[in-house]
Amino acid sequence: MRAIWVEQLGEPDVLQLRELPVPQPAAGEVRLRVEAVGINFADVLASAGQYLTRTRVPYTPGMEFAGTVDALGEGVSGLEIGQRVASLGGRGGLAEYALSPAAALIPVPASFTGAQAAAFPVSYFTAYFGLKTLGRGQPGEWVLVQAAAGALGTASIQLAKAMGMQVVAMASTEEKLAMARELGADVTLLQDDLERVKKVRAAAGGGGVPLILEVVGGPRFQESLDMAASLGRVIVIGNASREQANLRPVELMKRNLSVTGLWLTSLMQDPELAREAAQELAKLLATGRVIPQVGPSYPLADSAQAFRDIMARKTTGKVIIAP
Ligand code: NDP
Repeated sequence: MRAIWVEQLGEPDVLQLRELPVPQPAAGEVRLRVEAVGINFADVLASAGQYLTRTRVPYTPGMEFAGTVDALGEGVSGLEIGQRVASLGGRGGLAEYALSPAAALIPVPASFTGAQAAAFPVSYFTAYFGLKTLGRGQPGEWVLVQAAAGALGTASIQLAKAMGMQVVAMASTEEKLAMARELGADVTLLQDDLERVKKVRAAAGGGGVPLILEVVGGPRFQESLDMAASLGRVIVIGNASREQANLRPVELMKRNLSVTGLWLTSLMQDPELAREAAQELAKLLATGRVIPQVGPSYPLADSAQAFRDIMARKTTGKVIIAP
């Protein structure tokens, strides 16, 4: 089969197209014929050796993908050959066939295309955990969504609106802000607007926003604290700037702020939290108002270009690679 193979970590050129054997599912695993792979910022960081955890080489990237069930490992039941599923936590998605633990499969609505199914798991589970489980967002409350036209950003706007929240969206270009408005963002602001702190605070009635999904990090992290309302919750989800932030804990005291880290991988390992998120997301999907935003799609051979475009902030929605 054709697959991407990374022998050493580095710039996207390390993603090489190879001919590899079709993988065999072990006990508890399922093999999918891959239709579409969702590419996350984390995939780009991992292949560059800059992710939260160490990336072991050689490997085939792709942790989020959708396809049809092709073979079942020992002990797997309840799945039919040909059934379309998505995987969150599988491995080697950038290939014609990939393996996933059966327990990591996520059911997707029959109406979803393969690309929509692949665009769903990481962004929507992360958005749900950020807005609800850790963020404790309430209907009517304001939330600040950064990188609002990205994969996580678009998912966060949709879920926040479906939960009855009000959204301030920030992004780097006017085109990205227009997309955020189309998805329902109530107020939009350029990320480099010189009066951004004042304007975000004003949008939420002058007192600041009670909930912030922080994905940029670096010096911008301090701004998130400045934009937060008294008793505000800042959920640290990403560090797209890849710069250091300075957090002075005493600063949190004056306005009773909370800063909470969020890592999807570890949250999904808690069966109770994963089940609750899956149930709530299924209800939101059933409303028909939550539709994954599929961004540009690339063939497998252009995987390196897809990674470059994400890093250059050229993409909106979820970047898809279709083997
Ligand atoms: P996106 O599709 O949102 O792409 C990343 C976006 O980050 C860019 O489009 C850009 O939007 C923004 N950005 C801001 N500053 C920079 C910078 N210096 N360099 C590059 N991009 C920048 O990606 P994802 O949806 O995959 O991820 C969004 C963020 O959420 C990432 O930080 C990611 O690591 C994090 N994340 C964390 C998870 C977790 O478990 N903790 C799970 C999922 C995502 P703009 O041009 O508008 O600024």
